[in-house]
Amino acid sequence: MAKYKLQDILSELGVDANAPGGAVAPLLARKPHAIDKHKGALTSLPAMPGNQGGSGVRANEGDRSAGSGAGADAAVVSDSAQVEGRGAVSATSRAVEELTSGAAGHLVNSEPVKEEATGLAGGVVNGSKNQDHPADGSMATARRGGEQPAEVQDLLGMLAVKGVPADKLTAAELIIKQSPNRKLVDALIEQGIDETIVQSSVAELAGIPFERINLDKGLDGGFDGKLLQRLTAEFCKLRMVLPLRTEGQRPVIGSTTDNVFLADDIKTRLGVPSIKMVLVTGYDIRGALEIIGESVAAQTSEDNMSSILSDVEEGDVQVERKQVEETDLEKAAGANPVIRLVNVIIQTAMKEGASDIHIEPAEKKLKVRYRIDGELCELLNPPASLSAAVTSRLKIMANLDIAERRLPQDGRIRCVVGGRKIDLRMSTLPCGHGEKTVMRILDSRSISVELNQLGFSEDAMTIWSKSIDAPHGINLVTGPTGSGKTTTLYASLRTLDKTAMNICTVEDPIEYHLDGITQTQMHEKIGMTFAMALRALLRQDPDVIMLGEIRDLETAGVAVQAALTGHLVLSTLHTNDAPSSVTRLVNIGLEPFLVGAAVNAVLAQRLIRKLCVHCKGEQAPSEEILEYLTMNGMSTEKIFVPKGCDKCRKTGYSGRVGIYELLCVDDQLRDVIARNPNVAEFRRLCIERGMITLRQDGMQKVNSGVTTISEVLRVTDGH
Ligand SMILES: [Zn+2]
Repeated sequence: MAKYKLQDILSELGVDANAPGGAVAPLLARKPHAIDKHKGALTSLPAMPGNQGGSGVRANEGDRSAGSGAGADAAVVSDSAQVEGRGAVSATSRAVEELTSGAAGHLVNSEPVKEEATGLAGGVVNGSKNQDHPADGSMATARRGGEQPAEVQDLLGMLAVKGVPADKLTAAELIIKQSPNRKLVDALIEQGIDETIVQSSVAELAGIPFERINLDKGLDGGFDGKLLQRLTAEFCKLRMVLPLRTEGQRPVIGSTTDNVFLADDIKTRLGVPSIKMVLVTGYDIRGALEIIGESVAAQTSEDNMSSILSDVEEGDVQVERKQVEETDLEKAAGANPVIRLVNVIIQTAMKEGASDIHIEPAEKKLKVRYRIDGELCELLNPPASLSAAVTSRLKIMANLDIAERRLPQDGRIRCVVGGRKIDLRMSTLPCGHGEKTVMRILDSRSISVELNQLGFSEDAMTIWSKSIDAPHGINLVTGPTGSGKTTTLYASLRTLDKTAMNICTVEDPIEYHLDGITQTQMHEKIGMTFAMALRALLRQDPDVIMLGEIRDLETAGVAVQAALTGHLVLSTLHTNDAPSSVTRLVNIGLEPFLVGAAVNAVLAQRLIRKLCVHCKGEQAPSEEILEYLTMNGMSTEKIFVPKGCDKCRKTGYSGRVGIYELLCVDDQLRDVIARNPNVAEFRRLCIERGMITLRQDGMQKVNSGVTTISEVLRVTDGH
């Protein structure tokens, strides 16, 4: 059994493991980080012409509404987030700091009393409030008592002595006069003044030490990883701080501001009586956090890939169809390692029970995401340099044109993974960094679920079984895309007697092949519509017809006609709940009395995630939840909550189950339908006659510990 290591594969491919985005990022010999490349990139809030110009105009008019000021600031923040993520981080940190820490934190504040909240807190600020009226409450209080103009002058004076050009100082001074929410330090840096000079001057004036972090040394550059873990990287990023070392018992923390509230916060988090604060540059903190982030990411992705690659054999994934261009394959896809990588991608999907694979070339990596239990998660990150080769390999497997990169294509891959035949429905789409590939996994095993494994309550199971056993009529399954409608229909068909009955389907597309059933593919382009296929089927003496979807009046009309002439019709509709399916059929143009006469039952469904049985935890419900449960007719001492373990990718959930709302149309409801009721009225009637709603069914599953309240509420919003 061959064992492969990611490094070996990469080096075989000639991938420079040192390149940015390489899965193994070395940390010692680092180039200056990306911030260096941008002129003025050191500014946490880049100078946006609109912002300054806007403020200026407002200043001249004497109408500087704090609300508009905040709006402009917020716009800058979002802009900078797109251009340069770090800008946003530091902007956020500053805003948060200003909101939470208050007085002592501000080195600069030209109009201390009149200030209002900062841009990020814009929602709180009344837009029409004029600056002449200070904001009420804590915001304004928090901003009061900042640094005095004298201190502004001190800093400007010191910088002038240090040889900073006067025009830059004047410009910075003007900015903070016009935008009182901004800090002088930021304005100075924005003017292109070296952050080191600015921060060291600030430190000198405040009488605290100033230090640089040696980023060239990577992880050995003089910051304390253990303390960082205790503070968490998120906290450091948000507040722009970095633990540097411990002196005696006292942690030394680098920060961009000398702020006692921040210092208190750090003391509490570290559980120490005192810390020493030193001033550092934001540049150094961002650089250090970047190094740490990369090392963590590189470690994880390396571990992941190696462990996966180690149990892959080259032959584990075989393309079932004989390749016509077998020789080209090697050439186009690079070499064997790419084939192995693609195999790993597909195998991972099978191992994790994914329904879709998304392969997206990004700037620095090839993002491989999987849809597992309905949610996308990123599991593999091969280097970006492999993007084109991986895409080409997949296109070859799907018999697509590998030379065509500007047009979307779609195809199908048939392969065997670990002895299991699977089908992948693949599509490509040109995008920014190449072509994005999405593959839907059509796994016959995942569809061959029995009706009684789908999570029906006992009553629903009895009623639904009875209605699909009926000799004629329409049974509808309804719900949004991805709610498991096809699985339910297939499971229903499987319960029917295929020997004694002629069962036909019209599908778009045929997702799975069912034994003993005639399946027809719809082709709208050549005129083979659902309605046309259905008419053709009706001439084939069918007993049961499954129709992929009822989309239009014509199809609905033929379906009703079939149901009323002694055939059983199963189909799907795209509605949110069971009662609205009935009204939908009327709304697309069918006679209400025909709908009432034809429809046997409507099943609305959703898929909810099941709690992972390996890690779910018990909890006494909070008063609020208890009240909610009581309102829903349940009383329970305990509820289950997701925790997360290795078996569920730390999500706390594993696998999915359906929740159902089954409307059985009886004679009384047929009369009601014939009178063409409105949706709300009809739904109320259905519930009065005993229909269990989606949410009620979901709450039953909460009660029995299968899932959580939040999961049920997530999929049944408003139902
Ligand atoms: Zn678990």
